[in-house]
Amino acid sequence: MTHTRNSAFNDVNQKVRQASEFLELKKGVVSALTNCEREVVISIPLRRGDDVEVLTGYRVQHSSARGPRKGGIRFHQDVDLDEVRALASLMTWKTALIDVPFGGAKGGVCVDASTLDAIEKEEIIRRWTRSLVHVLGHHRDIPAPDMGTDAQTMAWLMDEFHRLEGFQPACVTGKPVDLFGAAGREEATGRGVAMIAAETLKQHNVKVKGATVAIQGFGNVGRYAALVCQELGMKVIAISDVTGGTINLDGININSIFQEKTLQNLTVGDQIGSAEVLEVDCDLLIPAALGGVINGSNFEKIKSEFIVEGANQPITFDADAELRAQGVVIVPDILANSGGVMGSYFEWTQNIQEFSWPQEKFRRELDARMEKALGNVVKTAKKYSVDLRTAAFIVSVERVAKAFTMRGSLV
Ligand code: NAD
Repeated sequence: MTHTRNSAFNDVNQKVRQASEFLELKKGVVSALTNCEREVVISIPLRRGDDVEVLTGYRVQHSSARGPRKGGIRFHQDVDLDEVRALASLMTWKTALIDVPFGGAKGGVCVDASTLDAIEKEEIIRRWTRSLVHVLGHHRDIPAPDMGTDAQTMAWLMDEFHRLEGFQPACVTGKPVDLFGAAGREEATGRGVAMIAAETLKQHNVKVKGATVAIQGFGNVGRYAALVCQELGMKVIAISDVTGGTINLDGININSIFQEKTLQNLTVGDQIGSAEVLEVDCDLLIPAALGGVINGSNFEKIKSEFIVEGANQPITFDADAELRAQGVVIVPDILANSGGVMGSYFEWTQNIQEFSWPQEKFRRELDARMEKALGNVVKTAKKYSVDLRTAAFIVSVERVAKAFTMRGSLV
């Protein structure tokens, strides 16, 4: 059964409004926080064969109240303005929640990344950068990878930016380690997801060792989340990507499949469908692929007690309420997958200082700051008697509203 998704931006804004009520914010401030500062829509002509296909690209800057805007670029066929607005807004709340000096932004191109060869990908990201260079820069707006883009895509972006504006490696994060990237950034999102998951299990007196895990997505986030969950003693019993998935109740050895490009035809377990993995009976579910995958059509089939959101907005607003009513503990995206932007912050500061950290220091700082952010959210949830998502929004909305008001942007 197909499921029509409500506006993703509206889903985020419902949480912002709810947090604003707890904080008794003024109407005008709430209005500023629920709108985007700037939205740029571009067309990207792409040579294909002897013709041209015109793609649509976006950059939405939601807020700069707490610093330069920050957010990834997604290449996916479902990208539209509503989704980019929602993701830009989430970046504002995420950067505030983990207390790094950034605002929020997001970019995207509506294209099926799996149909692109390297030359086409390079052409698209270079054109995207040329069209948007006036709103980008290390103190304006700093892109990073997201679905369908990776370190190589960021290297091309940096190169195009340098041609136009001169040397400025901090203009983009998530770059290859050999080209101004930071050792530790690639694994940072998945690592953060796994660390937060382990800590959450402990807080609920569930043993981490042997806890069973199902993961949807085997890209940057899902792959490293699986690896680190395993390193922490959990048992990954099911995993899927867009091509299909595999299940093995004895546990899948993630090291043995880590380098696989896709999960089609693996022999380490029985085959299951890409979405079926969400319904596996396990302790912990990590959706780490698309948004909106847990919704009105399938929330009743979810069997895990804990959901840690590796992807952005994997659970729709309504399904979130239903699952919580069933007693499922949900660690929200803006906390759970914030290791990525935390890592990007480390990369950015290192680029600006022209100094690099060893990977061990990167990991230590990441783990400590993630733990602090989780502690803060748990404390706030107790203070207001609310769930973790509502608490996370209360913390971040308060910080952004304060910065916005202190800047005098209201007058
Ligand atoms: P990616 O492109 O590296 O990987 C995406 C994965 O999802 C792939 O394995 C793909 O096969 C799978 N997938 C796509 N459609 C699917 C479907 N219908 N069913 C099952 N699997 C499917 O992307 P990523 O960077 O890992 O991002 C994944 C999610 O995490 C996105 O929601 C993204 O916004 C979020 N996120 C990423 C980062 C980051 O640092 N990369 C940071 C924070 C949040």
